Amino acid sequence: MINTDAIIIGAGFGGMYMLHSLRKLGISVRAIEAGGDVGGVWYWNRYPGARCDNESVTYSYSFSDKLQQEWSWPDRYAEQPEILKYARHVADRFDLRRVIHFNTRVTYAKFDENKNRWLIKTDGESEFSARFCIMATGCLSVPKIPDIKGLKNFKGELYHTADWPDEGVDFSGKTVGIIGTGSSGIQSIPIIAKQAKHLTVFQRTPNFSIPAWNVPITPEKDQKQKKEYPALRRKARDSMAGDYGEENVIRVLDLTENERQAEFEKRWLQGGFNYQYAFADALESHDANELVAEFVHKKIHQMVNDSDVAELLCPKDYPFGTKRLCVDTGYYETFNRDNVSLVDIKGTPIKQMTHNGLQTINAEYTFDVLVLATGFDAMTGALTNIDIRGKENISLKQKWDDGARSYLGLAIAGFPNMFTINGPGSPSVLVNMILACEQHVEWITNCIAHLNERGADHIEAKVDAENAWTLHVNEQANRTLYPQANSWYLGANVPGKPRVFMPYVGGFKVYSDKCDKIAENGYEGFFLETNDQ
Ligand code: NAP
Repeated sequence: MINTDAIIIGAGFGGMYMLHSLRKLGISVRAIEAGGDVGGVWYWNRYPGARCDNESVTYSYSFSDKLQQEWSWPDRYAEQPEILKYARHVADRFDLRRVIHFNTRVTYAKFDENKNRWLIKTDGESEFSARFCIMATGCLSVPKIPDIKGLKNFKGELYHTADWPDEGVDFSGKTVGIIGTGSSGIQSIPIIAKQAKHLTVFQRTPNFSIPAWNVPITPEKDQKQKKEYPALRRKARDSMAGDYGEENVIRVLDLTENERQAEFEKRWLQGGFNYQYAFADALESHDANELVAEFVHKKIHQMVNDSDVAELLCPKDYPFGTKRLCVDTGYYETFNRDNVSLVDIKGTPIKQMTHNGLQTINAEYTFDVLVLATGFDAMTGALTNIDIRGKENISLKQKWDDGARSYLGLAIAGFPNMFTINGPGSPSVLVNMILACEQHVEWITNCIAHLNERGADHIEAKVDAENAWTLHVNEQANRTLYPQANSWYLGANVPGKPRVFMPYVGGFKVYSDKCDKIAENGYEGFFLETNDQ
């Protein structure tokens, strides 16, 4: 049994900074990581074309000026190998690896009320006992395998984008099928199409995608950005998206037709995920939203030669931005290639897999390789996959039977001394995730320091505070158009998962101010106790 003050589960960007931060606080800490190295989502998602759709200078740690000054990003949007290289650099630079247990998956975590400690078991021999248990398990870390009849019958090569072989996949000369047109599909399709003999894209729901306009960062630009880091980081912390892009100042419905088209064009040419937050009313008003959607439809028709294919690629049955916006490089143009075809599996659903491919209700397709770009059991999957037991042996999975509940997405009533980094109920996936990790890590570190100063043994969210926060998260979501899409934000992509809107839509700045206020008010909404009270 390894005894330590804190255990961190996961060594992605949240876990690594948590480790560094608690070590600086002077407490003993270990991390447990299922992967063979640090990096989390960027360790597993090695599919071709994987690239971050937040700009590199914002999707990177801000906690160390030395780190940001010594690291140079080669591209406006870093690709997966570069981000993984950065994660590895951070692990080396801050000497994190020696307290991380790699290739070890946590299976069980139980709070022992008598000892006031967490017992943590893994799929290996090692067991841990810790006063604090910090879940840095990621929002998008449990790949979802689609429930397609006969999937096991397929005799060709089968890959999931989120569990991609380290050595890569050579598609040359092969016929390939891909299911899924979310961010992972949209990024990988153009690259696979360039290699494969033929690529068939099976699309159930089209997504809105905005061009990345990725460019290399020149040495001059790199130097300029480095000088501007303090201002950029401040701007990101004061923003809605945790980013420094221009956001939310203009209302679509306040503009004349000419102004609107000019503004849409300007934003399109800026590109990137920030398009999501470009217009203050786009996620609140149907009329405004339809105008944005119409503009993107027009762009799709301009990029795709075959108007029937273009029409199929235009999302029509949910508002713009209510499914996670995608960012692409040459996605729509890929459908102009002779070796690419699009199959609408909403109109003609998949019946079953065969040895050599798949059958829809009216045709049969054969291919050598099938790529599943079918997403994740998002936000809660990594937590409910662990048998987590709180006070009186309550199970987290059972507690969340009707949907995730939390206080601030940071703590859960009945689970003392457990924190969740980017848990459901926090802005997490709606904002720049690295900044969201930093904000949670800093809040948790300050909280543990406060407990130690006060001589308090444990902290636990109050049920009333959790209820009020969960209601607030839902009310905020219901004021927007978000709940109108069958998105993974709602758990709608996983059959049987309760439909509850999980991320907090209020924005990074509003949320982090609330967290700070709660801490300033003596951790309002939490019990802080010593064992002998
Ligand atoms: P996703 O957005 O959930 O997309 C999954 C796709 O698979 C959807 O098109 C879905 O169709 C389809 N699908 C799922 N099950 C299916 C089934 N049984 N039959 C047919 N089609 C099925 O997953 P993702 O693309 O992996 O992206 C998930 C999230 O990861 C993104 O939204 C983003 O937050 C993050 N991500 C970010 C980046 C980046 O930074 N650039 C890259 C990749 C991923 P339906 O829509 O009809 O369900």
